[in-house]
Amino acid sequence: ERGHVLVTGGAGYIGSHAVLALRDAGIPAVVLDDLSTGRRAAVPADVPFVEGDAGDPALLAEVLERHPIGTVMHFAGSIVVPESVEKPLAYYANNTLASHALVEACLRAGVGRFVFSSTAAVYGIPGTLPVDEEAPTRPINPYGRSKLMTEWMLRDAAAAHGLKVVALRYFNVAGADPAGRAGQCSRAATHLIKVACEAAVGRRPGLLVFGDDYPTRDGTCVRDYVHVSDLADAHVAALRHLEGGGEGGVFNVGYGHGSTVREVVAAVERAAGAPLSVRIDGRRAGDPPELVAGIARITRTFGWRPRFDDLDTIVATALAWERRLLETVG
Ligand code: UDP
Repeated sequence: ERGHVLVTGGAGYIGSHAVLALRDAGIPAVVLDDLSTGRRAAVPADVPFVEGDAGDPALLAEVLERHPIGTVMHFAGSIVVPESVEKPLAYYANNTLASHALVEACLRAGVGRFVFSSTAAVYGIPGTLPVDEEAPTRPINPYGRSKLMTEWMLRDAAAAHGLKVVALRYFNVAGADPAGRAGQCSRAATHLIKVACEAAVGRRPGLLVFGDDYPTRDGTCVRDYVHVSDLADAHVAALRHLEGGGEGGVFNVGYGHGSTVREVVAAVERAAGAPLSVRIDGRRAGDPPELVAGIARITRTFGWRPRFDDLDTIVATALAWERRLLETVG
C-alpha cells in the first residue's frame, strides 16, 4: 500500500501546515526539505525528515524506495517575485527544473499522484474578476512563468503517463495554525499581513502602503487572503479526491472575496489594540489593482469548505504567532 505522502518543502510556511493537516487526518507523511528557508523545528518530531534538495534525482530515488509514497505534495520552491526578476535562472532551476526531476522520479518509482503548489501569479493582471481557472494565463514575472511551466509539464505528464495531478493556484496566503503549532518564520518577509504583524509587535518601525490611488473602494489594492490552514485542508481534499478516482486539474484556492490594504491594516490595529505607523508610498511594480479568486471549481469538485474565512481571524492567528516568535526566537 502506497499510503504515504512525500511533502517537499514541508519545513516551510505552507508545507508545515500541510504536514499538520495530514497528521490531523491520520495520513502518514515524509518531509523532504533543504532548510534553505524552512526550519527543522517546523516538522513534528514523529514525522520522518530528510534534509536535501527536492530536485536531486539520486536522493529522490532513495526516498521513494525507502517509503511507501503514493502521493507527492510539492511545496519546495522560491517565491519572492522581485528576486525572480533579478535572478530568473535561479527561479527556473529551483522551481521548473527541480519539479522536472521530481516528476521524473515519481514516474520511475510508480508514484501515482501529485499535488502542486501553483500560484495566482500565473494569471498576471486578470481581465475579469473574480478570476476563474479558464482565464488566460499570462504571468508578468519569472516567478509566475516558472510555476506555469511546471503546470504545463505536469499536464503533459498526466496525459502521457497517467500521473494524477492537481495544481492548486494559491491566492494570498496568510495566518498561522490556530493552535499555535506552526506559522510563518521567513526572515525577510514582504507579504502584507506578516509585515503588518511584525510592525505590531515592534519588530519593525511601521509599514509602507504601496499606492493609494488605485481604482478600488479605498484606493489601495484588493487581495483574496486565504488562511494557511484552509489552504492546507485543500491539499488533503485534493489528495482524497485523487485517491477516490477523481480527475486532476487546476484549482484556485481563495475565498472569492477580497480585502484592501487599508482594511488589512485596520484589522491588524484592532487585533493589536494599538495604531500602526503607516506611510503611503508609491505603487509597487507589477501589482494588479485587484485579485480575487473564483472558487466554484474547488468547492464543487472537492467539497472544500473554508473554516477561517474571516479577515479578523486570519490576522489574529498571524499576530499570535508573531508574538510567540518574539518570545521564543527573539
Ligand atoms: N503591500 C503594502 N505594503 C507592504 C506589503 C504589501 O502595501 O509592506 C501591498 C501590496 O502592494 C499589495 C498587497 O499589499 O497591494 C499584497 O501584497 P503582498 O506582497 O502581501 O502579496 P502579493 O499580492 O504581492 O502576492
